[in-house]
Amino acid sequence: MTVKAEARARLNFSTDWTYAPAPESASHAQIKPRYDLFINGKFVAPAKGEYFDTINPSNEKKLAEVGQGTGEDVDKAVRAARSAYDKVWSKMPAKERGKYIYRIARMLQERAREFAVIESMDGGKAIRESRDVDVPLAAAHFFYYAGWADKLEYAFPGKQPTALGVAGQIIPWNFPLLMAAWKLAPALATGNTVVLKPAETTPLTALKLAELIQEAELPPGVVNILTGAGETGAAIVNHPDIDKIAFTGSTEVGKIIQKSLASSRKKFTLELGGKAANIIFDDAPIDQAVEGIINGIFFNQGHVCCAGSRLFVQESCYDEVVRKLKDRMETLIVGDPLDKNTDIGAINSKMQLEKIHEYLKIGADDGAEQWCTSCNVPEKGYFCRPTLFLNCSQSHRIVQEEIFGPVLAVQTFRTVEEAIEKANNTPYGLSGGVWTDKGSKIFKVTSKLRAGVIWANTYNKFDPTSPFGGYKESGVGREGGLHGLLPYLNLN
Ligand code: ADP
Repeated sequence: MTVKAEARARLNFSTDWTYAPAPESASHAQIKPRYDLFINGKFVAPAKGEYFDTINPSNEKKLAEVGQGTGEDVDKAVRAARSAYDKVWSKMPAKERGKYIYRIARMLQERAREFAVIESMDGGKAIRESRDVDVPLAAAHFFYYAGWADKLEYAFPGKQPTALGVAGQIIPWNFPLLMAAWKLAPALATGNTVVLKPAETTPLTALKLAELIQEAELPPGVVNILTGAGETGAAIVNHPDIDKIAFTGSTEVGKIIQKSLASSRKKFTLELGGKAANIIFDDAPIDQAVEGIINGIFFNQGHVCCAGSRLFVQESCYDEVVRKLKDRMETLIVGDPLDKNTDIGAINSKMQLEKIHEYLKIGADDGAEQWCTSCNVPEKGYFCRPTLFLNCSQSHRIVQEEIFGPVLAVQTFRTVEEAIEKANNTPYGLSGGVWTDKGSKIFKVTSKLRAGVIWANTYNKFDPTSPFGGYKESGVGREGGLHGLLPYLNLN
């Protein structure tokens, strides 16, 4: 019997059924063949006239070509942002600023379906995720921060909060629209103007957002969106007339940025990598915990900086947890991101898939026991089966390094102290999860875990009112909630 058949037999599935495809229609998603840079309220050709392709990682087909922003374009965008700040945005009553942000939020809600489809086509994530998580949360962030625009003095009583000026924002490919909303909404609400760069593999929803911002009649120059690769990002970081840098991406690039900013007056926030621990005690509701582990690492292809990529299971419930985990993993559907049944879409790029494969080899070579599901994956496109590594040790590279794929490293522990020590033994400290029936244990563990966000008996839950950010190599500063206003303000 195959592993899949065994799992089905245990779960009492009488026949080897599969779901019929249920693809979301892409006919309403308007993608132009070419996108220019969004500077000073208009789409303008890049200074050097160069463009690069953005492809659909689930079928490797070209979706559009987008402008390659250079230092010259960045300079033009920063000038536009400065002029908009000086002449319009900083002079506008806060209540009016708030109205624009509310308008963006409402328009995003109205076009949620189109944004979700384009997000899945450009980035590879399952439509279920982009439709139910990314787009609604992006709109929620605009709504939330719109509300703060005219209430800043209540957020910081006794202070006189003032905007910084021009913010440079650089975002990654895992949550393209949501990260744009995380960055733009607080910057605009606090009265700053912005130059934002999306990641090179996922520029489309940010460019659609630029179209929406244009339609919302935001004053020209308040938001500028430039596409391009690392050099475009570096030109933003190093531009002398930018007051603040907000970066989300790899720890490696974060370190480069921090070095470049060390001698400048710019404020900055960095949201970097993670290697979150999910800790399961034997008194936890095991079925619920297994579902949380699956949600934490496999949905979104593991392309989440707060992914629960390390699992610590108390020895006394190890066999049960691993058996249930394998059974549940066998039911996961890997495939077309636009299919509503798909749990795990495409890996974002060929480069990322190669990186994941490299780690699968490293894990096996280091002696961990590799197990992956037996599901079919499409031949074309970048796909990866959900994989477990059992019997891992603390020194294994798959336990220490961020893989950013559907790969879970499993270890055991006996005592609370051992779980805490092992979970903290990483250069990162972004997030974590604890599963137990005992409230006292939750408090004991969460107070000792060195991570910015810790979920108890749930995982990967987000809300615009909650701050998010890391310890150690996971970053500097907080985004989200009231805390997310502070990095964009001077408090006098
Ligand atoms: P990931 O591993 O998530 O792709 P990166 O850190 O490589 O993360 O990229 C995140 C964002 O940072 C992307 O928009 C990318 O273009 C940009 N970027 C890459 N290198 C640099 C750099 N040296 N300076 C500024 N931005 C950069």
